Amino acid sequence: MTLTEKILGRASGKDRVQAGDNVWVNADVLMTHDVCGPGTIGVFQREFGRHAKVWDRNKVVIIPDHYIFTADSKSNRNVDILREFVKEQGLPYFYDVIDDPNGHWRFDSSKGMLKRQYGSNYAGVCHTALPQKGHTRPGEVLFGTDSHTCMAGAFNLFATGIGNTDAGFVMGTGKLLIKVPETMHFRLEGKLQTGVMAKDVILHCIGQIGSDGATYRALQFDGPGVASLSLDDRMTIANMAIEAGGKNGIFEFDAQTQAFVDYRCKLNGTRPAYDPVERDRDEKFVYEFTIDLSTLEPTVACHPDPGQRKLAKELGNVRLDRAYIGSCTGGKTSDFLEFARVLQGKRVAIDTFGVPATPEIVHDLQSARWGDKTIWQILVDAGVQMTENAGCAACLGGPVDTFGRMNTPMKCISATNRNFPGRMGHKESQVFLASPATVAASALTGHITDPREYLSSPRPYARQQGEELA
Ligand code: SF4
Repeated sequence: MTLTEKILGRASGKDRVQAGDNVWVNADVLMTHDVCGPGTIGVFQREFGRHAKVWDRNKVVIIPDHYIFTADSKSNRNVDILREFVKEQGLPYFYDVIDDPNGHWRFDSSKGMLKRQYGSNYAGVCHTALPQKGHTRPGEVLFGTDSHTCMAGAFNLFATGIGNTDAGFVMGTGKLLIKVPETMHFRLEGKLQTGVMAKDVILHCIGQIGSDGATYRALQFDGPGVASLSLDDRMTIANMAIEAGGKNGIFEFDAQTQAFVDYRCKLNGTRPAYDPVERDRDEKFVYEFTIDLSTLEPTVACHPDPGQRKLAKELGNVRLDRAYIGSCTGGKTSDFLEFARVLQGKRVAIDTFGVPATPEIVHDLQSARWGDKTIWQILVDAGVQMTENAGCAACLGGPVDTFGRMNTPMKCISATNRNFPGRMGHKESQVFLASPATVAASALTGHITDPREYLSSPRPYARQQGEELA
């Protein structure tokens, strides 16, 4: 069996499953956020009763993150609905925007978009927060009401996005009927060269198969090349499995995974036991693709979908209005470090927005120093508009006052994950998806630029869990 089949077999109590089987799967975690949470709660209460209890209070994780830093009153109200539900249910894993359990969330736009407005429990973008808060355990099943839930597959989970109706059902029963997907195999060999990042790997894969090339399939990434990829890198790759239509993306378990998960579970006091799945000799794939990482070059997905693959060096004639770094995919600490390596000591030529995915990443960037400056200061000095309000921000467009949202037609290069028309705001805007390094180089020139023009050495080694950055 493939990694995905093994997890689904175990979670459905069967010795063996194969692609096409329909199985009732037990959930280990159900995650929801401010956009889909109220709808999920509505389905749950309608179907199970106004005073019904969730199937397991320790397995429901609620993370407001999408439309948070906006004066839009309906968006603010969604966070209050989550808080009321959490109180009724006594749920321990709610990462509220404010600290007062009886309070109401109101964004104060008079304070501006850059200064922190969240409390001490806020966790930022759900997919980045889940592993940081100790909710991604190898071998488990994680359902989330968000298509990029597949990001947790970096930690050897079966993780997939589901709709509000399914999530309401899981909330009441802890189960979901799943058709076992076929698995596509991506074998990674070699090592990434200077200026090439994990984002380039996944853009290369999606360009190969198209933005519907993996519809309802698992994408399994393994091979000797994985050892040189950090957990942040693997998260970027697994995150975008859905951009090819994938049901989930999944990596093997290794010592890096173990160190990360053990550290995070201990740090947060979450359930520490888990049972990873390993590869079988008899695994069957519907598709096989081998990638030599050392041959990849900085890659861009052009408007209007993530499958429109070109090399950055071919796109020098594309003039840009804006650059954006952020999101679950491209707003991690390691993303900002590579972004800063390109920008250090220089000045951007176009409007450039920076949105860290989580408060922990804000802290990393404000505490780590290169010389006498923090990373944050290096970016601000380069002209990047950095906000402390970690969250989804303009990745999904959002209300008109959302930081970085494109409210007029323009061309933007972005470290985010999706570029269908209207995704980041105005429906006539064009979004070009690229790595943080390519976004940085393009911000310096005002046109799409290969970052190797600005980088002469490979990325420094990836930080291990619990290690100080500086
Ligand atoms: S950052 Fe973007 S892709 Fe990630 S969860 Fe938020 S809206 Fe979705």
